[in-house]
Amino acid sequence: MTDSSGLGFSGGSFGGDLSKLADTSILECKICWWQYDPAIGDEYWQIPPGTPFSRLPDHWSCPNCDGHRAEFMVVDN
Ligand SMILES: [Zn+2]
Repeated sequence: MTDSSGLGFSGGSFGGDLSKLADTSILECKICWWQYDPAIGDEYWQIPPGTPFSRLPDHWSCPNCDGHRAEFMVVDN
């Protein structure tokens, strides 16, 4: 895990607080590194492109490892 910001990694944690997320935020599973990109959506759960992470259904979990939504972290571009 690399950290180029010097601020530590806690700032990127999603931690289940959806209010912190922008609609365009890309989130990454911290278990398997699978990424959710709102511009793409998610074929596995039949999520249409343009769906923000904060609006995913409650039953949504990582398509790759079944990790919980709260296990995702915001990816800084
Ligand atoms: Zn995963």
